[in-house]
Amino acid sequence: MRWFPITLPAPRRWLSALCLVCVVGAASLGASCHPMRAEAETAPSKVVYLTFDDGPNPLWTPYVLDILRREHVQATFFVLGFRAQKYPWLVRRIHREGHEIGNHGYYHTYIVDQNQRWVEAQVRRADAAIEAACGVRPMYFRPPGGILNPNNVRAVRKLGHPIAMWTVDTNDWRATKAQPIVRVVERDTRPGSIILMHDGIDTSSRYTVQALPQVIHYLKQHGYTFAILPEHYRGTRLGVPTAQGRPTQAKRAAHSAH
Ligand SMILES: [Zn+2]
Repeated sequence: MRWFPITLPAPRRWLSALCLVCVVGAASLGASCHPMRAEAETAPSKVVYLTFDDGPNPLWTPYVLDILRREHVQATFFVLGFRAQKYPWLVRRIHREGHEIGNHGYYHTYIVDQNQRWVEAQVRRADAAIEAACGVRPMYFRPPGGILNPNNVRAVRKLGHPIAMWTVDTNDWRATKAQPIVRVVERDTRPGSIILMHDGIDTSSRYTVQALPQVIHYLKQHGYTFAILPEHYRGTRLGVPTAQGRPTQAKRAAHSAH
């Protein structure tokens, strides 16, 4: 099967970020009762979206949620269906505390290796697990590894899910300390950035937890506000993954374990 790494040349990335800001502005008009969206209305050019993948994880997700609550920051969690089924109380807490929950597949399987019927079935299964846990069907889908082919896009869209990628990859899934995670955010974040982090990786999410207060403080100091992904977005895709093409075997082995 042919690979379809979804990347855009640099100028189009900027265009994509600008479009995203417009989308957020439009979305906030329709949802001004939400405190974070109301905040975004006042400074739409400095919105940033924190996203956490591969959870919920009983050890690390509560730490992430504690930090977000303390800092009054809202984020989006792309949870795995089998973990939502195993830890439904964590899904409920994420939802109860005002964060967005997205579908990251039932297992962390690269869907580009699978046929359309399989992809639809596992996306549906993850939807059902999330809805059973917190009563809400997720809107966005983020493919494991951020890799899709055109058939995958059709399968996911058919189920009514816009696809949410990212624009800043902290590489925290393979971190061995916190500081590099912070440095990537400082270097790469722009207005409208979608920042990829992980709360569900046993070996490295401790460093995400360590880095997160510094990440938030840096962004606040530079005038950024935080929001969940726009509720009324009905396009095809948000963001672009930073990974170029097929992941290496080492990355597949390390990442697909989570
Ligand atoms: Zn993932």
